Amino acid sequence: MTRTEKLLAELIALPSVNPAFIPQSGTTARPARYYGEKSVADFLATVAARAGLEVEFQKVDFEGWGETPSSPNFQSGLERLSPHRNVRSNIIARLLPPGKIRQTILLAPHLDTVNADDSQFVPRRKNGRLYGRGACDTKGSVAAMLTALCELANTKSRPQETEIVFAGLVDEENAQAGSRALVGQASSLSPFFKKVRDRRDACPTALAIVGEPTRLRVVTAHKGSLWLHLETRGRAAHGATPQLGQNAVHEMARIVDMLETDYAARLRRRRHPLLGTATVNVGMISGGAQPNIVPDRCAITIDRRTLPGETESGVRREIAALLRAKRLPAKISSTKLAPCLPLETSPKLPLVRCFLRSVGQTRPAGVDFFCDAAVLAEGGIPSVVFGPGDIAQAHTADEWISLASLERGKNLLLRFLKSLP
Ligand SMILES: [Zn+2]
Repeated sequence: MTRTEKLLAELIALPSVNPAFIPQSGTTARPARYYGEKSVADFLATVAARAGLEVEFQKVDFEGWGETPSSPNFQSGLERLSPHRNVRSNIIARLLPPGKIRQTILLAPHLDTVNADDSQFVPRRKNGRLYGRGACDTKGSVAAMLTALCELANTKSRPQETEIVFAGLVDEENAQAGSRALVGQASSLSPFFKKVRDRRDACPTALAIVGEPTRLRVVTAHKGSLWLHLETRGRAAHGATPQLGQNAVHEMARIVDMLETDYAARLRRRRHPLLGTATVNVGMISGGAQPNIVPDRCAITIDRRTLPGETESGVRREIAALLRAKRLPAKISSTKLAPCLPLETSPKLPLVRCFLRSVGQTRPAGVDFFCDAAVLAEGGIPSVVFGPGDIAQAHTADEWISLASLERGKNLLLRFLKSLP
């Protein structure tokens, strides 16, 4: 068993479910100890310290994050966790160069996972694969990145002027509070990162490699994600005399049809060379109280995946204009806790080119899914996404990773890090 595989198996066995996903009701809810990233962060701190890395925790402040009424899960998750409320921290492990620090490279996978049943916390090896929650999303990247860094710390061919920082981030699967805190969007910056931010002009973080399952391809672009809430209002009446009311569900049915046909067709004409087209999905609908009342209210939530260059205000404007043109009045609001922007990092940046070359890739790749990379990029750190495993297995009931991909990922990262000055 390789060190990477051993570390991944140990990580799968640790609880890591994002507290935002604690079920709101029902007696089958798992005890709070299954939730949160603390066990993973503590374990990684021990591993990193043993390899001689400098370790610290960065507390992530969740105060004020739960106030969006449309995300009740987020608030209740935190409340149920209240005894452990303060324990959500990013773990930071640094390998300092012997010489003066001229640049910083960030390895940034996330620590949290989506929900899982008990069996998924038991790592299982079969036919060259390791099964378990987080195997590919994204404990696989955590294992590959930290193992590469620990091995680098113990070789002679270490970078002389490059600082390498491993940042295990909390909360990627929900509101990316970890990455937002890391780049200083949150108030609780650790002393170390205050220093980093203050000295940014002198020594900027040159590149962040965000760990996600990309099948070991260097990804420089991903789509953004907007969740918009649309609401129609009608007038209630007795179900026996519907002509006296105004049916909000019927109004909404027209809007749903318009979004899924006309608007979707319009988006299909918008193309990005690495990402394909923008999309829209009407994911939720609710309206009406009982069959014999004309419904006076109907609401939908749509997931709009955006391309670089598209903004929330632009998207809202274009949907509002379409609704006006079709005489379909509806109120539009946003339901995301924080903006999820698209990512587009120039593949021409010297370090991105180096990384592409080191991995043996001629052209950069794009992915559909949103991740921490856009948050870090927005915070001023050029970011790419890279990691072993395939997103097709993420969030599934039998999540797995190919052990060959895991080991190759560690080796590719190690090779790149060794090539740095
Ligand atoms: Zn992920």
